[in-house]
Amino acid sequence: MSNQERHPSEQRVCTAQHPAPCPDTELLLPREVPLGGPRAMPVLRSLPGKNRRMIGAWCFADVYGPTDLTHQAGMQVPPHPHIGLQTVSWLVEGRVRHRDSLGSDQLVQPGQLSIMTAGHGIAHSERTPPDAPPLLHGAQLWIALPEPDRHGPPAFAHHADLPVLTRPGARVTVIAGDLDGRSSPARVHTPLMGAEVTLAPGARLVLPLNPGFEHGVLPLDTPLDLFGHRVEPGALLYLGPGRNELALASPHSARLLLIGGTPFTEDLLMWWNLVGRDHDEIVRARADWERDRTGHGTRFTPVTGDPGPALPAPDLPTARMRPRPPRRP
Ligand code: MN
Repeated sequence: MSNQERHPSEQRVCTAQHPAPCPDTELLLPREVPLGGPRAMPVLRSLPGKNRRMIGAWCFADVYGPTDLTHQAGMQVPPHPHIGLQTVSWLVEGRVRHRDSLGSDQLVQPGQLSIMTAGHGIAHSERTPPDAPPLLHGAQLWIALPEPDRHGPPAFAHHADLPVLTRPGARVTVIAGDLDGRSSPARVHTPLMGAEVTLAPGARLVLPLNPGFEHGVLPLDTPLDLFGHRVEPGALLYLGPGRNELALASPHSARLLLIGGTPFTEDLLMWWNLVGRDHDEIVRARADWERDRTGHGTRFTPVTGDPGPALPAPDLPTARMRPRPPRRP
């Protein structure tokens, strides 16, 4: 046997400014999905992708706006249930009022993190308040809870003071996990990170990465040329593990999310707002919600103060649902 490769180190020199798609990167194109009820707001959903369903424990990514709500209702998502996940609400512009079945009533604001842990069951609503500024722009991401933690009690936390790294022409807010020695106060249950990066025109930023993590880059407002891909806002660029750093640059001002984590090892069954492991578990959670949403049960208690009515669960598919691996083999 002999190594016939002429340039065996080529993969390692495939830099962020490489002209062709680098090995071990994958562009996940988003699909447009209506969010909430009849006056739905469109969102761009890049996770789960068809082949790659997760990045670390991150299992869902929606980006919306910037949208002018002057003549629209904005986000109006009535009470609905979640199990088995954490929701990460992140705003760039505007306000969203979060209410949940624990009695939380929180105004989600730009640059602040609202993180809700569903555990065995929580219900919440997300609504644009009547006095919100006209522009709405943000993201919602979900983190799957691992087996030991997914049956635990629900929780909600709001973090107004997150660590911020400032570098020449760049500002990095650590939303979850650690980055360059700074830690988010948010409680998570698997090794992962999340950050918002803003770049001034022409700025260049090198961020240290955990080489044990896989990562994803989600531009929020301007396309990024990265590892040979043009990544439009709402799309997600997957970066395989083994990277020690990420070099970011943009000729324009740019805002993006960086997420990462240890590759998840459990297969998930994601249906509607429920993250479980098998068909029967999802059927039970759906039945519990259908009983509880009129205020008659104990698993999903009412969302305090929401004008309602709660969202009915969609019909179950006729076929038995199966869990899926984090990435298609
Ligand atoms: Mn929700």
